[in-house]
Amino acid sequence: MNEHFLSKRLECVGSYVPNQARLADIGSDHAYLPVHLMLNKTISYAVAGEVVDGPYQSAKKQVERLGLADWIKVRLANGLAAVLPEDAIQVVTIAGMGGALIASILENGRLQGQLQGVQRLILQPNVGEQGLRIWLMQHGYRIVAEDILEEQRKIYEIIVAEPTLEPVNYSEKERLFGPLLLQQKSPVFLKKWQHEKKQKETVKANLLQAQTIPQEKLAQIDRELSLIKELFA
Ligand code: SAM
Repeated sequence: MNEHFLSKRLECVGSYVPNQARLADIGSDHAYLPVHLMLNKTISYAVAGEVVDGPYQSAKKQVERLGLADWIKVRLANGLAAVLPEDAIQVVTIAGMGGALIASILENGRLQGQLQGVQRLILQPNVGEQGLRIWLMQHGYRIVAEDILEEQRKIYEIIVAEPTLEPVNYSEKERLFGPLLLQQKSPVFLKKWQHEKKQKETVKANLLQAQTIPQEKLAQIDRELSLIKELFA
């Protein structure tokens, strides 16, 4: 992967960035995504935020080498603290992290007012999609698109959400599978849940071997297994 050729995963994240948007990419590593979108003239301005010095330096070098420093601001900061009011950011991308970390970045940003004016979140959690959907639902974000893809034997979900004043209510099933992924039931989606089913059955078998069976955890796994079985019924 480089600034010209993104991974299929990041390409998919980028495909949901509206034309000429002002973007904040949080956890930007080499700034591949904002650089790629800027070189393709998809975005008009970007902030690339990184909390770790190494990836921050890589991102900074990359942006300077390509002469893009006037349009892409690389900042060393925790989460949405990279975003300043004058950036007038419209779209936030957060990719390649766990769902719980993404939700905590969003929560801190919300509390600090850094999500004000942001019209779209494009999120790619590696795990913990369900918890992230719950955060979105509880904070007035409607899921407007979802995608699922496989790359190098890993399956990734992409969640696109926008703020709404209408109440947002997703069922347990929609929170687990994704409201739109559930409607589409693509082959990759079904492959993911076949695999999850096997994994959960193994976890359940292990739990049942424990000296003190954790009843709450067992009930949760049973509940999820029955929802997964319904998918294939
Ligand atoms: N977004 C890129 C992608 O999807 O390919 C990079 C993903 S990389 C696995 C995750 C990056 O997020 C790392 O560079 C890490 O330092 C950064 N990161 C983790 N927590 C962060 C936070 N709270 N604020 C900003 N960056 C963070």
